[in-house]
Amino acid sequence: MTGEERSNSGRTAVGSGASEPADSHDRFPTAVRQLSDRSSTAVPPLPDPLAPCVHCGFCLPACPTYLATGDESDSPRGRIVLMRALALGELPPTDDALAEHLDACLGCRGCEPVCPSGVQYGRGLEIARARLAEVRGLTPLARIVLGVFRRAWLWRPAFTAARWLRGTGLFGVVAGEGRMGFAAGMVAATTRHCEARSDEAIGSPRHPIASSAAPWPPRNAGRPTVLLFRGCVMDTLFTHVHDATRRTLEINGYDVVEADGQVCCGALHDHAGDVAAAKALAERNVRALADRADYVVVDSAGCGALLKDYGHLLGTEAAAAFGAKVRDVSELLAAAGPVPPGPLDLDVVYDAPCHLQHAQGVHAEPLRVLSAIPGLRLRMLPGSDKCCGSAGIYSLLKPDMARAVLDMKIAEIAAALPRPAYVTTGNPGCLMQIGAGLRAAGVPIHVVHPVELLDWAYLNSE
Ligand code: SF4
Ligand code: SF4
Repeated sequence: MTGEERSNSGRTAVGSGASEPADSHDRFPTAVRQLSDRSSTAVPPLPDPLAPCVHCGFCLPACPTYLATGDESDSPRGRIVLMRALALGELPPTDDALAEHLDACLGCRGCEPVCPSGVQYGRGLEIARARLAEVRGLTPLARIVLGVFRRAWLWRPAFTAARWLRGTGLFGVVAGEGRMGFAAGMVAATTRHCEARSDEAIGSPRHPIASSAAPWPPRNAGRPTVLLFRGCVMDTLFTHVHDATRRTLEINGYDVVEADGQVCCGALHDHAGDVAAAKALAERNVRALADRADYVVVDSAGCGALLKDYGHLLGTEAAAAFGAKVRDVSELLAAAGPVPPGPLDLDVVYDAPCHLQHAQGVHAEPLRVLSAIPGLRLRMLPGSDKCCGSAGIYSLLKPDMARAVLDMKIAEIAAALPRPAYVTTGNPGCLMQIGAGLRAAGVPIHVVHPVELLDWAYLNSE
């Protein structure tokens, strides 16, 4: 098995991957197609997502787990060798070391934009993870966590209780180092740290429920309608971000509507290889949200990435049409201008969420929105192209690696001069992970969503 070798301990170690069997490229596409058949009916075979890899190694410095361990098996190139071996049957899904190194991948896709060959690493990973989950099953912790997110009657009371406890200030007091302290810091990081205008101030305090029976008629002729995707964590611990999203969109000429029947987006399940659960959730969301408005707006980058990809996940025209209507809130605000807000005299660093920049390809829009705020001194965080270590439920399943990756991010923030008042990023996992890391490191900087800053700036324009 060229390109991989077994160590004496039985763990699989990946070599440079510079050479491989002469017929690998011939056999790999078939194997990948077999593994990539995510639907028994409608999904066409994927192209060969990993086949273009020429093992050049340009992706290695872009990979947070490789930077943390220096181990080729924890690099994109090494994992591609492992995934190919899995697809070819050269390594079985039961190989513990193979599973360990693929599980340790953040799925951040930071390796994709730097790849000169156009390797679709994320597609290859989702295929491999689905195969591993099918054969090995999920870990008990992953099963429990993903099971909770499948059921609103479980996650909603749990997060609502967390929000209530957050209001007592308890999480802020016990936040710090250690697993419990870090978890408390994650909840404390969901606290609202910006001033906000009231819904009444924009003259549209109520946001109507979109009809489930017919396309939603515009409330105001000529204004596009936008349906807010609520999600799970966002709809409980980040309601202040949803409020800011609604308000800033209304100011920028959109009619915001709501729809009942929506559920968790399924991204956590899809990333973990639980494709059946991801599909079940996606089908419910398409049923609840399709054809209700001109756009579906998302203020969580991780949710938005999968919602846009529902067509691939479900393999139906309805899902593809739904995905084509999905926009990150920054895309809609940037398209509208945004309407000039009032000033904010603040130093702010922007850290781009992986699932916004790498998965959705949205780079300029959040910066355009933030740059519209007079007085705001905005900088990109050095290393913004790299993951913070949150990655869905990764920080729960792989806390040590997640923390090693996070420490690199916190070091960049702590070194930023002049010291920023806020770190801003558009994904709940990143907000919680970075916020908890800053608290644990004793760095007095808050984390906020970009729409919160814009909402605050509109308050100053009154
Ligand atoms: S940069 Fe692309 S082609 Fe080069 S090793 Fe990484 S994935 Fe393969
Ligand atoms: S997805 Fe992220 S963690 Fe995984 S190999 Fe690519 S850069 Fe590394």
